[in-house]
Amino acid sequence: MNILEIENLHVRIGRKEILRDVNLKIPKGETSVLFGSNGSGKTTLLMTIVGLPDYKITEGRIIFNGRDIADLDINERAKLGLNIAFQMPPEMVGVKLRDMLKICTGKNPEDDLSNKELELVKKLKLTEFLDRDINLAFSGGEKKRSEILQLLMMRPKFILLDEPDSGVDIESLRLISGEIQNYLSKTGSSALIITHHGEILDHIDAKNGCVLLDGKISCHGNPKVIIRDIMKRGYRKCVECRIREAIE
Ligand code: ADP
Ligand code: MG
Repeated sequence: MNILEIENLHVRIGRKEILRDVNLKIPKGETSVLFGSNGSGKTTLLMTIVGLPDYKITEGRIIFNGRDIADLDINERAKLGLNIAFQMPPEMVGVKLRDMLKICTGKNPEDDLSNKELELVKKLKLTEFLDRDINLAFSGGEKKRSEILQLLMMRPKFILLDEPDSGVDIESLRLISGEIQNYLSKTGSSALIITHHGEILDHIDAKNGCVLLDGKISCHGNPKVIIRDIMKRGYRKCVECRIREAIE
């Protein structure tokens, strides 16, 4: 069974059409990777899936767990277990990481985080950040670790990761991708990951990859093969699938 099915999706922001006829299926329990050059519409696709209001669907459907989610608000989709780690998480002045984690885990403000939850905070090296304003003067890696921590605390059924590896040093990348893979293996949850790099594929078990180019998805296949081809030949050549098959 597919946990996510995107059919003939057309999306515009304002008057500009960004996505044209996007089709994508992700089986339950599997992780897929989305490649594509800057500006190809990758972030737009993720924002549309989670339901940000500026992203207007003009045609097509998004089916999550057998249900058309087009009419659901972003918070309703989040409650279904569709959760995202943003590419550029904003600074939140006056909001402590500890308080956000209580919201993520559905606690009352007077409740404490559990020992198990604090263990994950420690694993992601964020214990000393608990009483700081979220992302305020955090480094690139600290922002990403904090974003992934908040995401995992929500116990997602489907994880959307928008470039979790950009601006992150190798150690932070290993740390966050290890924890993500841990979570996916334990829970059987699924994921869609946007990346420009191959490194993350050494830590996260992703079965399928595809490339977004000119607002459309093409070139489905093994993500490690796809990234190798992109590095050799560029995005446009990579989507000419026959060339990829010839290399294989
Ligand atoms: P990617 O994540 O693949 O780099 P994006 O989805 O961020 O690409 O952007 C796709 C295209 O949509 C780009 O040309 C970008 O300039 C445009 N775009 C994104 N957000 C907006 C917006 N709010 N208003 C107008 N155009 C936008
Ligand atoms: Mg983007």
